[in-house]
Amino acid sequence: MDYVSTRGAAPSLDFEAVTLAGLAPDGGLYLPAAWPTLSRDEIAGLAGLSYVETAVRVCTPFVGDALSEDELRRLLASAYAGFSHAAVAPLKQLDERHWLLELFHGPTLAFKDVAMQALGLLFETFLGRRTEHLTIIGATSGDTGSAAIHALAGRAHLDVFMLHPLGRVTDVQRRQMTTVQSPNVFNIAVEGNFDDAQALVKAMFNDPAFAGKYRLAAVNSINWARLMLQIVYYFYAAVRLGAPGRRVSFSVPTGNFGDVFAGYVAARMGLPIGKLIVATNVNDILHRALSLGDYSVGGVEATAAPSMDIQVSSNFERLLFDLYGRDGAATAAAMTGFEASKRLDLPPAMRAEAAALLVSARVDADGMAEALRRTASECNELVDPHTAIGLAAAWELAGEVEGPIVTLATAHPAKFRDAVERASGQRPTLPMRAAGLFDREERYATLPAELGAVEAYIGERATPA
Ligand SMILES: *Cc1c(COP(=O)(O)O)cnc(C)c1O
Repeated sequence: MDYVSTRGAAPSLDFEAVTLAGLAPDGGLYLPAAWPTLSRDEIAGLAGLSYVETAVRVCTPFVGDALSEDELRRLLASAYAGFSHAAVAPLKQLDERHWLLELFHGPTLAFKDVAMQALGLLFETFLGRRTEHLTIIGATSGDTGSAAIHALAGRAHLDVFMLHPLGRVTDVQRRQMTTVQSPNVFNIAVEGNFDDAQALVKAMFNDPAFAGKYRLAAVNSINWARLMLQIVYYFYAAVRLGAPGRRVSFSVPTGNFGDVFAGYVAARMGLPIGKLIVATNVNDILHRALSLGDYSVGGVEATAAPSMDIQVSSNFERLLFDLYGRDGAATAAAMTGFEASKRLDLPPAMRAEAAALLVSARVDADGMAEALRRTASECNELVDPHTAIGLAAAWELAGEVEGPIVTLATAHPAKFRDAVERASGQRPTLPMRAAGLFDREERYATLPAELGAVEAYIGERATPA
């Protein structure tokens, strides 16, 4: 399988290279040169398979010969062995039509573990083959950082430096990062907000001397392999609810458009999805884009669902590439215009094409709290604020979509227990696998939001390439 850039002007890569790559050199994002498909019989053949076996079948066309089928199976089995539920991603019924797909049974209680646990093993495998060393640098508002650290701690051939905004992540999120005592993990609390931390990471990538010396790499959702690993659970859930004989719809709490784009790819591969509901909070650029054609940047408002507090969703470019008929030059022109003017208008024909699969809803703080209370009282189920936004959107659009509706439960409620308690009056308890989190020693450096200070700290500890 060859991978091409959405901006059409970068050399194509194979799966191994695309896994280790960040942005394409032309500024675009990599995706497969063509969408592979599974036939109706192949989809029917997924019925009853384990999560790992489903993942092998779904990922094989993307991986190509970068790994043998046996290597891929062993890697996936090892990635999911640490999940606390034997089904890895169990479905839970809420009523006759609505289901939750619980994606939070990994080590850090959020869905990012599903992709990240396998990505850590892919990195280790590919870097070991090439005898190369990477320095992973990231900024996190909480979930990505903890998932990355748990996936990469102790892995050979790489170091991780994770920047979080001092005092602005939940105590559970911070401890999930800072209590991991591994010699290749470094936590940095930046005296500033998330945007300051993100700006520092960008500045390091844009400092050629620094980036080249330490071979910097990223683990955010622009990474193709992460998206590939998220396609799997759409097949796994839909097949259990009757696909390919019946269409199934999904509601996806959305931030960077990575998780819902994986659902879009599943549909492209032949999975009969009714609709994908793109659920946003008040940071609603995606809802405005899909419902009005208005993809323009507003301010970011902090909410109880911080992983959705994003204005520019990087993976939206991958959808645009398809909407522009996979024309890299046209996508590049649109994105350059967007980066300059902070707005892009989706023409009606493109909007109609997107609307065949993607619908959207915007859920404010009251709507989130109401959905959280309703699930608690009617279904005896406590959900986290991100999941509650997905559920509110699912209930709002239920009349417009076909089939059973699966809402992706993207985090365990205990990860956001203060917000859950405020909305529902109930305080969720931390699951067994997180027990001890508050007894373990924390280790992190606190640094000013200054490039020189952060580069000096990393330079003293990172391994030159
Ligand atoms: C990251 C995250 C999201 C958003 O996922 P995207 O792929 O960025 O759209 C939603 N909920 C939770 C809990 C998350 O951690």
